[in-house]
Amino acid sequence: MKKEPQKPIEQEAAARAGNFEEVVGVYNESQALLEAARCLQCKDPACISGCPVSVNIKKFIFEVTAKDYAAAYFTIREKNNFPSLCGRVCPAEYQCRRTCVLTKKGSPFASDSAINVHFLERFAGDNGMKKNLVSAATPEKGLSGAKVAVVGSGPAGLCCAGELARAGVKVTIFEGLHKTGGVLRYGIPPFRLPRDILDFEIDYLKKMGVEFRLNAIVGKAVSLKELSGQGYQAIFLGLGAGTPSFMKIPGENLCNVYSANEFLTRVNLMSAYKFPEFHTPVTIGKHVIVVGGGNTAMDSARAALRLQKMNGIDPDVSIFYRRTLVEMPARRLEIEHAKEEGVQFKLLVKPQEFIGDAEGRVIKLRSLECKLGEPDASGRRSPVAIEGSDFEVACDMCIIAIGLSANKILTAVTPELVTDKYGDVRVDSKTMETSVKGVFAGGDIVGGEGTVIEAMGMAKKAASAIKEYLRVKS
Ligand SMILES: Cc1cc2nc3c(=O)[nH]c(=O)nc-3n(C[C@H](O)[C@H](O)[C@H](O)COP(=O)(O)OP(=O)(O)OC[C@H]3O[C@@H](n4cnc5c(N)ncnc54)[C@H](O)[C@@H]3O)c2cc1C
Repeated sequence: MKKEPQKPIEQEAAARAGNFEEVVGVYNESQALLEAARCLQCKDPACISGCPVSVNIKKFIFEVTAKDYAAAYFTIREKNNFPSLCGRVCPAEYQCRRTCVLTKKGSPFASDSAINVHFLERFAGDNGMKKNLVSAATPEKGLSGAKVAVVGSGPAGLCCAGELARAGVKVTIFEGLHKTGGVLRYGIPPFRLPRDILDFEIDYLKKMGVEFRLNAIVGKAVSLKELSGQGYQAIFLGLGAGTPSFMKIPGENLCNVYSANEFLTRVNLMSAYKFPEFHTPVTIGKHVIVVGGGNTAMDSARAALRLQKMNGIDPDVSIFYRRTLVEMPARRLEIEHAKEEGVQFKLLVKPQEFIGDAEGRVIKLRSLECKLGEPDASGRRSPVAIEGSDFEVACDMCIIAIGLSANKILTAVTPELVTDKYGDVRVDSKTMETSVKGVFAGGDIVGGEGTVIEAMGMAKKAASAIKEYLRVKS
């Protein structure tokens, strides 16, 4: 009998579009067992090579089939510090599921029949979390008493801190914001990543002895040199890519034209969706346009649509994207969810000008239609604007989500840290060490905008090199 892929229960689209509760549920035990039983347990499992931190997927799925959920949890944790978190946000369709033997050869993303590794990871992760399973510390020789500073508490910083703390290093994380988590807290909305999951992982680190200093901007409150002077023998930089890009078109400075970063920070970090319980409201437009096609655009559109519904406004949110759905970089699941919730997609369009009223508020957006041309440097077919195809639409709020670049607060005041033309920190690709001895870096500040698991992969590599550096130093 053919074993069908298992789908976890989801909140029904019409209902969820009016709240910020988690959309996708967790497998129940029988679903997890059915899904795990579909795994072919390949002799040479390609899925592992698709995972940026090489989780032993074959082994943990086997442990699920054997109902040894604790073992499955620890197998994942050997390589991935945050199973519940990655089980929710990892773009598995471009990673482990794409390399799964059940994906059709040559497909740009996973076939539906590929094993739902992320849902199984989440099942095992949540199970471990509920049972409060904690990996034992594995103190490593020559590291006790060593002190390391980590700058930034996004996935890169958290992961590096976890790896070092586990080995017996005393780690302090310096975070510029008043809350921990980086994009996981201020960018990804709670309907995709509930905050108790994030808080659990951060508490886990605290229990391992990691100390957090909030509202501490390194480069302003304290310099790298001062940190070294305070006895930190090595430093890891996980500064992220927090600087929004703009289209540089007329009218972009009008009121109610937001960067996605500002909008999502207001909604998520400042809890604007809980106004008036939280006194930090955000503008809610009647005709909202989100420009872009990545995860940030999907999150912005879905958050804006929820705010409209919660405030009694007829939903009207459109994504404007200059290519087609095929080239859209957002996760497939998020695109589907956005469509189901009522977000409209206007493809092959390029905004040209925002038009404002007498008070300087945006009221319209003028755009050009596009067609697809030759592939560009990214390998995707480039959008070519069609002359004379101008059209205007009503727009009283626009959210620009066309990309992010390096956070330069620290690098701008630390000239000895060599950066590239994009402002990303240059590192030795084997050790992740920067141009400054004893200072390492990883995550979006090194590779540009990437994924949570890629940031964690770089952080793990840096943590290994930091341990070696500390041993040699001692
Ligand atoms: C809206 C949105 C949705 C996304 N969705 C997904 C998804 O579904 N799946 C996925 O895999 N990836 C997703 N990504 C990408 C992913 O979140 C990033 O690749 C990842 O967060 C990068 O981790 P990081 O630790 O390098 O940086 P960040 O998460 O950006 O964290 C950097 C931290 O450093 C702090 N900081 C910076 N400079 C200083 C300083 N000088 N002093 C002190 N602190 C400092 C910042 O305040 C921040 O907290 C998304 C990104 C966005 C913006």
